Amino acid sequence: MSIKNSNLGYPRIGEKREWKKTLESFWKGDLTEQQFEQKMKEIRLSHLQKQLDKGIDLIPIGDFTYYDHILDTAIMFGLLPERFRTQDANSLQTYFNIARGSSEQVAAEMTKWFNTNYHYIVPELGQAEPRLTENRLLHLYLEAKEELGINGKPVIVGPLTLVALSKGENKDQVIQKLIPLYVQVLQELADAGAEWIQIDEPVFVTSNANGALFSKAKEIYGTIRREMENTKLLIQTYFESVEQYEDLVSLPVDGIGLDFVHDSGVSLRKLKTAGFPKDKVLAAGVIDGRNVWKASLQKTVKLVHTILEAVDRDRLILQPSCSLIHVPVTAENEQQLDPLVKDALSFADEKLYELSVLTNFINFETEAEVLKEYDSATDQLSSSKLRNQSAVQDAMNQLDSFSTERAEAGLRRKQQNKRFSLPLLPTTTIGSFPQTKEVRAQRLKWKKGELTEKQYSIYIEEEIRKWIEIQENLELDVLVHGEFERTDMVEFFGEKLSGIAITTFGWVQSYGSRCVRPPVIYGDVLLEEPMTVKETVFAQSLSEKPVKGMLTGPVTILNWSFVRNDLPKSSVLNQLSLCIRKEVEALEQAGIAMIQVDEPALREGLPLKSEKWDKYIKDTVTAFKRSTASVQPDTQIHTHMCYSNFEDIIEAIDALDADVISIETSRSHGELIHSFEKYSYEKGIGLGIYDIHSPRVPAEKELVMNIKRALQVLDPELFWVNPDCGLKTRGVTETIAALKVMVSAAKSCREKA
Ligand code: GLN
Ligand code: ZN
Repeated sequence: MSIKNSNLGYPRIGEKREWKKTLESFWKGDLTEQQFEQKMKEIRLSHLQKQLDKGIDLIPIGDFTYYDHILDTAIMFGLLPERFRTQDANSLQTYFNIARGSSEQVAAEMTKWFNTNYHYIVPELGQAEPRLTENRLLHLYLEAKEELGINGKPVIVGPLTLVALSKGENKDQVIQKLIPLYVQVLQELADAGAEWIQIDEPVFVTSNANGALFSKAKEIYGTIRREMENTKLLIQTYFESVEQYEDLVSLPVDGIGLDFVHDSGVSLRKLKTAGFPKDKVLAAGVIDGRNVWKASLQKTVKLVHTILEAVDRDRLILQPSCSLIHVPVTAENEQQLDPLVKDALSFADEKLYELSVLTNFINFETEAEVLKEYDSATDQLSSSKLRNQSAVQDAMNQLDSFSTERAEAGLRRKQQNKRFSLPLLPTTTIGSFPQTKEVRAQRLKWKKGELTEKQYSIYIEEEIRKWIEIQENLELDVLVHGEFERTDMVEFFGEKLSGIAITTFGWVQSYGSRCVRPPVIYGDVLLEEPMTVKETVFAQSLSEKPVKGMLTGPVTILNWSFVRNDLPKSSVLNQLSLCIRKEVEALEQAGIAMIQVDEPALREGLPLKSEKWDKYIKDTVTAFKRSTASVQPDTQIHTHMCYSNFEDIIEAIDALDADVISIETSRSHGELIHSFEKYSYEKGIGLGIYDIHSPRVPAEKELVMNIKRALQVLDPELFWVNPDCGLKTRGVTETIAALKVMVSAAKSCREKA
């Protein structure tokens, strides 16, 4: 009996982001609804065909979406947010209104999908009466069968995860009402001929999973299983191990999917010690669905053989560790990369190829030579100069010689107060100013070679000059150069540091039609020449006021990149910290007295399992401190973070030992203030006083109120006045108008303080 393989989900966005373009044309009104549906159908079918051609046995159906698969599931079960409930649940308009907001209604919230950078739409349960609006999975299943002859594997997010990810008070009731609806959806699929149905329950890998959750699961799946016939149900988990392994594998279903890549070896250990039920199928995630590197097929074969010691051959399915929506589509088009790097890459299509080679080998249909040959690309990169920089390795061997502690904070504050003599409640911004169409057009011209280096740099300097003048006129106290030379806060540094590559088509979906292109950290990371000194020094030369140097921190560069997997992440982080440290030193040496090191991604990197938090926090805090600790006590280190739910990591933020931190808060001011009632924070702090996500110019009264509210719990001597985040997405006029209000609000509070 041959072993089968399966896929969990395929990237929606298309090789050249056709999906994104189709969506955006439709939103602009360039496509009719019919044209849109037709185009989407073509994309959807081409993805299925591709998986068929790659030799995948169980091809996922229903993972494709027009925006987000959680939103699809919520709508299918009638769980529309209260404010949209009068609208037709099955219309495209309603669908996109919920996702993106309409002129009358705000959009539903979105948030990160577990520990990934994919954002899903948060379902709002409200007083919902769940109902089946339409069995969309059935349509998609039949479409694949009729058009391509594929007997697909429908994929649906399970009731426990769906409800766990939703907002609402009445979760238990909703689950009860959902069960018969799930049964109906699944039974219709079974009746149409679906052999396997995959039910995703990643909630089982989180720290929220406990005995109570599993008893509920047992009851729910017991009911579902009892009421259904003629199909096999598989419960799928991913991104981590499942603590309650025994409970999971004894659930009354036909198959269990485990991630053998991101589980710290737990699944394999449990498999060996506790065994695997003889009456179930194990879907084993053995190809990493989260990174972009070729698998070592020889090692993977060993893993599969170990699994086979506990599971019969006819009860094993091989698959990626999770859906492939977290990686780009294909590495084939990356012609710009060094061939050594390109050949070691594996995006979604290459991963499916790996899976099919692996399956063939296990099924005795491929020679070992093929595996060896495949693995050689990784070996070549591993032993190449590109990956191994002796200067970096030497530094890493003496990591302890790089200080991580600065002079005592109180002493620094005294010296800095003397040096800067800033007014009470000093005003500043977070770094970027509007990236207008023109700024982007000039950068594109330069990239295409239509502008010389010199011409481009003159253009950038003119922008800086313009904005220094604007900031002077606004009477801001601490200025920035505006980041006009940067596309993106991580990509910019990725381009400058050696050991990091920027791909051409390596896009992944972040939310809706928005895609990001994470840099690829392929080798030892080294700073060869200063990255930001020129622009910063130029800006500083135009003003008597301090201009902040502006850097992206090591944790954020790490968390927003694809990272080499031959080293522990913490080592890559340490390498990055040394690069940023060097840049900080170069800025200081060039006379820059305030340096901001942004770490907006610090919190999102927190592991799914809380027992891993301590190590993560220790590693990241140390890396930040190593990046910033070598400056003089009177050099002021700033940092910035874009989130407000940091109650659980407030100590870590304090431990960064930055002289000034700015945090995004305006959307949940009250809650944040609350955390400071309990925690006394004694360094400089700016709680963003206005929301930069909207073009709206705030009224002075509101801002004064926000400042006053903060001053109830924070020392006025330590409080800074700033917007929530960078202003790069805002227009010029609204930016200036809003900053004017902000400065004026600060002044009026100063007088009264
Ligand atoms: N300095 C960056 C900017 O202003 C910070 C962006 C961020 O926090 N995401 O754009
Ligand atoms: Zn921010």
